[in-house]
Amino acid sequence: MTMLGSLLLAGSRSPLARRAVSGFPLTRKVVDRFVAGESAADAVEAARRLTGSGLSVTIDHLGEEVRDSGAAVAAAKAYVSLLEALRPLGLGDRAEASVKLSAVGQALDPGLALENARQICATARECGSTVTLDMEDHTTVDATLGALRALREDFPETGVAIQAYLFRSEADCRDLAGSRVRLVKGAYAEPASVAHQRRADVDRAYVRCLRVLMAGSGYPMVATHDDRLMAIAESLAVSAGRGPDDYEFQMLYGIRADRQAALAAAGSRVRVYVPYGDDWYGYFMRRLAERPANVAFFLRALRGG
Ligand code: FAD
Repeated sequence: MTMLGSLLLAGSRSPLARRAVSGFPLTRKVVDRFVAGESAADAVEAARRLTGSGLSVTIDHLGEEVRDSGAAVAAAKAYVSLLEALRPLGLGDRAEASVKLSAVGQALDPGLALENARQICATARECGSTVTLDMEDHTTVDATLGALRALREDFPETGVAIQAYLFRSEADCRDLAGSRVRLVKGAYAEPASVAHQRRADVDRAYVRCLRVLMAGSGYPMVATHDDRLMAIAESLAVSAGRGPDDYEFQMLYGIRADRQAALAAAGSRVRVYVPYGDDWYGYFMRRLAERPANVAFFLRALRGG
């Protein structure tokens, strides 16, 4: 992580920085590169467009760390409405939902968050689709995996994201080797006591986790824009006797769209993570932190370039 990246991640949790960044008149133009729009209709339109070109989608209703139970219930309702709006498209599991438990009340009341997540899973099931739980900062991992275990009793198709940068993740992958697991590098600012700090160490940990998932009986979701890791995933899949339908690649909306299309055209399953909604600040700042070129893009747009 660069010094700029660390500053941006710190800013992603600062109310002052939120007001400053959100206040720039041209910020919205840059946000639109990473976010499909504000309304469920925008998300449905993005799903229609992307699935029409051979990709699958996982849709995230933006929001995290809600502060009251009303907002948590509203977030769950937004997912239910979204899934119902997607149903006429008949996409089945080509359009699934990605859910942050903090958006449905995890920090306020884990029971409420579980109940909200259960409703989203039940609606997804009715639509022939499913849910993947996003993973947030390391203090929430045990709670998220606990909720996943509870959800999987009724909805065994529910998946979860695992962050390769955490020391614990290889063991978590072993525990989850029969599940749908989305493997990511990890997007939060984590202390050296719990997470690899050097890029090369994160990449090596990612490969160790991939080995476990590919050798297991679950469904690995290889979420990265890193060509080297994608190539390693492909060769591990072949060694494990997996065909192109036995795992998938995932990338973020607005990032490497050309690569997404090329992989799908070559016969791989590719799913795009599509965020929508007006609470884009934390998501947007994590995307800036990942890549200095994204910050340059932001600054150019602010200058009107
Ligand atoms: P990086 O090291 O950031 O990038 C690797 C390489 O990819 C770069 O060197 C470059 O060659 C290429 N690349 C990257 N961006 C671009 C670009 N804009 N244009 C051209 N090339 C580029 N994190 C979580 O903590 N929890 C989650 O639940 C979570 N869910 C995710 C879901 C999906 C589908 C994806 C793709 C990511 C998710 N993440 C999540 C974010 C993840 O943890 C990483 O922060 C993010 O994916 C960047 O890591 P990377 O693997 O792409 O590698």
